[in-house]
Amino acid sequence: MIKKIALIVLLICLSLGLFSPGLVRADGELVVTNSSAEMDFPMRLIFNVSAESDVMITDIRLCYVVNRMEHVNIFSEIYVLFVPSTSVTAQWVMDMRKTGGLPPGSDVDYWWQVTDAGGKEVRTTPARIEIDDNRYNWRQITEGDVTIFWYKGDNSFASELMEATQSALSRLAENTGAELENPIRFYIYANSSDLRGAMIYPQEWTGGVAYVRYGVIAIGISPDSHDIEWGKRVISHELTHLVVHQVTFNPYSDLPTWLDEGLAMTSEGELTLSFTNALAEAWNQNSLISVRSLASPFSAYADESLLAYAESYRLVEYLIDNYGRDKMFRLLNTFKEGSGYDEALEKVYGFDMDGLNTLWRASLETVAVP
Ligand SMILES: [Zn+2]
Repeated sequence: MIKKIALIVLLICLSLGLFSPGLVRADGELVVTNSSAEMDFPMRLIFNVSAESDVMITDIRLCYVVNRMEHVNIFSEIYVLFVPSTSVTAQWVMDMRKTGGLPPGSDVDYWWQVTDAGGKEVRTTPARIEIDDNRYNWRQITEGDVTIFWYKGDNSFASELMEATQSALSRLAENTGAELENPIRFYIYANSSDLRGAMIYPQEWTGGVAYVRYGVIAIGISPDSHDIEWGKRVISHELTHLVVHQVTFNPYSDLPTWLDEGLAMTSEGELTLSFTNALAEAWNQNSLISVRSLASPFSAYADESLLAYAESYRLVEYLIDNYGRDKMFRLLNTFKEGSGYDEALEKVYGFDMDGLNTLWRASLETVAVP
């Protein structure tokens, strides 16, 4: 959609004759003789331009669009610093520490607007720079809308991960009716230190990152068999965040955290022991976290966050088991319309978050271990 809009803008500009593709300059002409961009991954994107005219070149602007899901399609315009002359070479560096990182697999469209002292103006044809992590030799496999890139491990390693993504997608569709709307890409780094090398501000614990607006997920998974089970769970989890994000994308509101994380957790498969233990303990000590508190971002403390994820899983499971997939699909669509948390639940299920809290806890009374 975004690329379509960008294309339409380009076509309009072309039809207005705003671009000058020429490199050879005739007398009196203003010409852009060079336009290029290079990526110094992951820190910098460098844009270069050269232009010539009979009179002083007085103004150079770089325009660029980062292609990602946006609520409005905007481009950035940069006034480039240079010394006015009849022959100019200039550069602008996008410093990712200031703009935020661009993930591998993303791309940026850019063009230049150059003006001389005679009032002549030239705009270059938009060009696209693809952001690649060229520190590695990536291989790729595609199935449906999912492409996996990897560089360490054999084909069966990648196939196994692909299988996990496909079953996570079918599980999600079965549970919620939600399906991928745009293609997505996984970048599988061989370990978390390689992955950290792809990030601007890596944190020690980073095992995976979902760049939801770009449809890109980067994860460190070693091809050894011990890691792959963990990897399959992470892939299913992050994939679900992307699908849910695509399905509910709107400028007004987000999802309550328990719903977003609960859907991601159910895609992984059954709850593992550490989660069920956290849940059983909180249940016995009457210290469950309320649904309303779980609507906000989760605690960073490990114990509390284990419990928050476990409860989210059970809440989503409760809604799906008792009210079905169609209502879950309606709930997601209600959020897409920009509905508030209580409002959306009320509309689809007839109870708000406190109501859900009461009903869900009552349902736990009937099972021996929650
Ligand atoms: Zn998550």
